[in-house]
Amino acid sequence: RRVRDDKAGILRPASSAFLNAFSSASGSQRLAGKVAVITGGASGIGRATAAEFVRNGARVVLADVQDDLGRSLAADLGGGDTASYTRCDVTDESQVAAAVDLAVALHGRLDVMFNNAGIGGDVRRPASLASMDMANFDRVVAVNTRGVVAGVKHAARVMVPAGRGGSIICTASTAGVVGGVAKAPYSVSKAAVIGLVRAAAGELARSGVRVNAISPHYIPTPLVMGSMAEWYPGMSVDERRRVVETDMNEMVGLALEAEDVARAALYLASDEAKYVNGHNLVVDGGYTVNKALNVPAPGR
Ligand code: NAD
Repeated sequence: RRVRDDKAGILRPASSAFLNAFSSASGSQRLAGKVAVITGGASGIGRATAAEFVRNGARVVLADVQDDLGRSLAADLGGGDTASYTRCDVTDESQVAAAVDLAVALHGRLDVMFNNAGIGGDVRRPASLASMDMANFDRVVAVNTRGVVAGVKHAARVMVPAGRGGSIICTASTAGVVGGVAKAPYSVSKAAVIGLVRAAAGELARSGVRVNAISPHYIPTPLVMGSMAEWYPGMSVDERRRVVETDMNEMVGLALEAEDVARAALYLASDEAKYVNGHNLVVDGGYTVNKALNVPAPGR
């Protein structure tokens, strides 16, 4: 259900779509009986994915460092057995292990691990490799890469011996596929995630545990809107959002939304993707496969 936003010239979900999405009885329950942990589950892509998973019959454990947001989202999603929140800083391996163990303690199983928590790091301009702040590099890699490695490790720890297979999904980025999308530390952190997914998929294939990446392009989540505020201090929030949705994206008249990534995650989490392993599902409207000529050309 979408409405046209004439100001931005794009289609958006109807304002109540988020809440309606998981309370709707319509549609099949593609994750019925499955249990998922979602890191970074309190906001943005993780939040949209939690709603999509619950709508499809999953029970979710949201793992994040934003306690108030995480708790209120868990309650909005039904609370109780359906959705719970646990504080989990993914830079601390023991907290990742504890989030996985909590899912197993609460529900007796773990079927889906969505390693999605991430940060943009220091996005101040000008971006200069020659003056790169290595402490910022370490911070970005600690969350975006090491945090994902810990998630894959601990999901495998419980999924492999359980013998029921499983789906591990890791949020990478178009910045991990091509240059020029983000600063080097972020690009490195996401390219490493894609490499990890390939390595882990091979290692875990025989156990039936699948490992895939999703690489979205720019979406105006709090992470990106924070960067936009840094880059365009004189712009209104609406204008920053419009720039992300239109100027920084590829498709005309359609905005990339967190829900688009949530639906990609739903597919990879479900048994419909039972033989999809080691894949990087790019959700970018064709951004990474299109290099525009710098002259007026047909079709642009
Ligand atoms: P977001 O800021 O809305 O959500 C990220 C969540 O991760 C937040 O709730 C935050 O609290 C959590 N988080 C941050 N550090 C954490 C830590 N150490 N431990 C646990 N949780 C932590 O942003 P988003 O855009 O939804 O980001 C989700 C993922 O998508 C990130 O990995 C991001 O890099 C990636 N991504 C985003 C975009 C985009 O344009 N929004 C594009 C490509 C990839």
